[in-house]
Amino acid sequence: MKSIDSYDFSGKRAIIRVDFNVPLDSNFHVTDDTRIRAAVPTIKKVLASGGSVILMSHLGRPKGSEEKYSLSHIVSTVEGLLGTKVMFAGDSWGEKAAEMARDLKPGQVMMLENLRFHPEEEGKPRGLADDATDAEKSAAKSAVKESQKKFVKHLASLADVYINDAFGTAHRAHASTALIADYFPNDKMFGYVMMGELKAIDDVMGNPQRPFMAILGGAKVSTKIVIIEKLMEKVDSLILAGGMTYTFAAAQGQDVGGSMNEKEMHPLALEILEKAQKKGIKLYFSPDALCGKEFSADTEAKEFLVKEIPAEWEGMDIGTQGKKLFTEVIKDQKTILWNGPVGVFEFDKFASGTRAVADAIVEATSRGAFSLIGGGDSVAAINKFSLADKVSYNSTGGGALLEYIEGKELPGVAAIRK
Ligand code: AMP
Repeated sequence: MKSIDSYDFSGKRAIIRVDFNVPLDSNFHVTDDTRIRAAVPTIKKVLASGGSVILMSHLGRPKGSEEKYSLSHIVSTVEGLLGTKVMFAGDSWGEKAAEMARDLKPGQVMMLENLRFHPEEEGKPRGLADDATDAEKSAAKSAVKESQKKFVKHLASLADVYINDAFGTAHRAHASTALIADYFPNDKMFGYVMMGELKAIDDVMGNPQRPFMAILGGAKVSTKIVIIEKLMEKVDSLILAGGMTYTFAAAQGQDVGGSMNEKEMHPLALEILEKAQKKGIKLYFSPDALCGKEFSADTEAKEFLVKEIPAEWEGMDIGTQGKKLFTEVIKDQKTILWNGPVGVFEFDKFASGTRAVADAIVEATSRGAFSLIGGGDSVAAINKFSLADKVSYNSTGGGALLEYIEGKELPGVAAIRK
């Protein structure tokens, strides 16, 4: 495998798949530039060793060429962070992009338009009628797969070397994240974001210092079940919080009022409780909850024990006892993996539980623990509290991180390694 550290980029055009899927406000200003900042070292490395750079990314989930998802909105932010002019190609597929790439001089940077303006990026047909027959669906899929080959070939034709630095989309076998690598059998490599992500997760999962605790929050058990099971093979203890709390409580016969409760997950929740007991893994739940009358930022808020939440209230954060318990158990850990906020932290009224968890992780880190924060929402929370530089590693990947921890082979990783 080639390494970005030793590769000779002089006179070469490097096409870099970055993850510039950043949040924008209603005036199209970047509200969180973490992902752009993360890609800067890779871009600078190519430029410093005599190469030129073609940046490509997706932004959001456009249904076609939608102006609000145009990467033109972020050009000035990228320029500011790089300290270099960035030429915008206006499209990713077409003569203009090809011409701009052809004319690229060492030290120059250009950026393609949002790759997902073309369905070929994901290889999924768009605009199919709701009542499309199976035959129509299959024909549309074959058609997009066919034209995807042309799209991949076009992207590859722009450059001499391919770098994948988009961990956030590494779990997708898209044109720019995996398929393009085939055109660069001897000139493909990971960027620094990818290398850092893979090392951090491999360190945590492969050789963790003990005690090792995972903290899992977020909304639903159903999206976390595989990772809970996988983590139970590695950790000494596990905090299960967020919306999941109530499904576990309800599965044990408790009345959780109007809280989130995935009834179909009850058997699996009970299985997890039993498995943890058998394996001697300590499971922590918050005994109390800060509840809201309705799911809104300014709803009335009140604390109840989880097992006593009245019908008209729903659990939206951990309560005072939960904060105390979690803080105590987190601060003595040596390895911590955190995925998912423990409450609806987007609403200030329900952010203090997540804040307490973040503070405890920061304290453990200052005492020598390795803390890996993963998943878009936990990183967003850590950023909201301005604590990002006080933990060991902030992962840029949500789904990709979870799938890698689950032990799945990520197409974006495999495409470089194979
Ligand atoms: P996930 O993507 O599964 O990690 O879920 C993250 C989301 O879970 C965040 O947007 C939180 O607002 C939400 N969340 C956390 N706790 C709760 C809760 N008690 N009830 C509903 N949503 C929650």
